Amino acid sequence: MNALYRHAESLGIEIHYDAMVTDIEFDGDEFKSVTVGDKVITATSFVAAAGGFEANIEWLKEGWGDIAENFLIRGTPYNTGGLLKLLLENGAQKIGEPDQCHAVAIDGRAPKFDGGICTRVDCVSLGIVVNKHAERFYDEGEDFWPKRYAIWGRLVAGQPDQFAHVIIDQKAIGSFMPPVFPAEKADSIEELAEKIGLDPNALSKTVNDYNAAVQPGEFDHTELDGVHTEGLKVNKTNWARAIDEGPFYAYILRPGITFTYLGVEVTEQAQMKMANGNLSKNVFAAGEIMAGNVLGQGYLAGIGMTIGNVFGRIAGNEAADYALNR
Ligand SMILES: Cc1cc2nc3c(=O)[nH]c(=O)nc-3n(C[C@H](O)[C@H](O)[C@H](O)COP(=O)(O)OP(=O)(O)OC[C@H]3O[C@@H](n4cnc5c(N)ncnc54)[C@H](O)[C@@H]3O)c2cc1C
Repeated sequence: MNALYRHAESLGIEIHYDAMVTDIEFDGDEFKSVTVGDKVITATSFVAAAGGFEANIEWLKEGWGDIAENFLIRGTPYNTGGLLKLLLENGAQKIGEPDQCHAVAIDGRAPKFDGGICTRVDCVSLGIVVNKHAERFYDEGEDFWPKRYAIWGRLVAGQPDQFAHVIIDQKAIGSFMPPVFPAEKADSIEELAEKIGLDPNALSKTVNDYNAAVQPGEFDHTELDGVHTEGLKVNKTNWARAIDEGPFYAYILRPGITFTYLGVEVTEQAQMKMANGNLSKNVFAAGEIMAGNVLGQGYLAGIGMTIGNVFGRIAGNEAADYALNR
């Protein structure tokens, strides 16, 4: 980011920090100006790249209800969707659903905002995940982690009180990126349950039932090894190893919202569409603020940055082209 800012400055681009856009003026479908503090800034063309509304708990509640109070926000507290709301109020066409987002299960001890990458917990596929009743609720081995990590925020959000625990044993240590907070550790499952506030008998039963359901096979975390459980209400379909070698470890999980998908609709050239069916002449959008054009549900690792980079470049080119040639 520093390199990009330095490069922009060397091209003569003026950068204003701590500069929230609080109002926007349109003439019909055409952008005229934005208000930043007490300044009104006019421009020939405008690129909206002010993120989603993931840091706006009240807006998240419109999609999720009150449980959104229990969500952690993985990134900046400044992405409150103010510019997105202004664009929609000024006639932009909306795309996407208010409850669709990239939501990872992160360490429940992470700060409310900006915990960043180091609070991600990446050992779900190596163990089992239980809710506050010490019950498993989803196949932890459904697919490779980069294809599945972004569904676990939503899954944990669906559990009572919006938390869960991932339980692993000694065999899993060293096979995943360790998160910043240390795991709770104990020599027995019952002792671990006490430490994390779950019913020891319930957790012990869940682990014993799971262990008894594990079928023989060659564990290999680098491929879909098919090592699975049989006969459980929720089976694990890959990497199902018994949790039987102490010490045992637990990480608390909570939904960590990375970014929201609801945004403004754009063309392939990043040009913003208006609800009246017209195109805005001179407004372009890139990144989370238009992520809903690419993402409906789900996620594949890397798409967040790709949307910003690809549409950022297109929007920049188009905005410059409009300014030079109108
Ligand atoms: C912890 C974490 C890990 C991630 N990991 C990955 C990953 O591994 N791979 C991947 O592809 N993606 C990842 N992402 C997602 C990706 O980083 C983001 O989706 C992407 O950077 C968003 O770019 P953007 O330009 O749309 O928004 P941002 O980079 O968030 O920029 C938006 C900017 O707009 C500013 N702003 C907000 N409102 C206003 C306003 N009213 N006026 C003026 N400015 C405003 C904000 O302060 C902010 O600086 C991750 C995100 C997080 C938080």
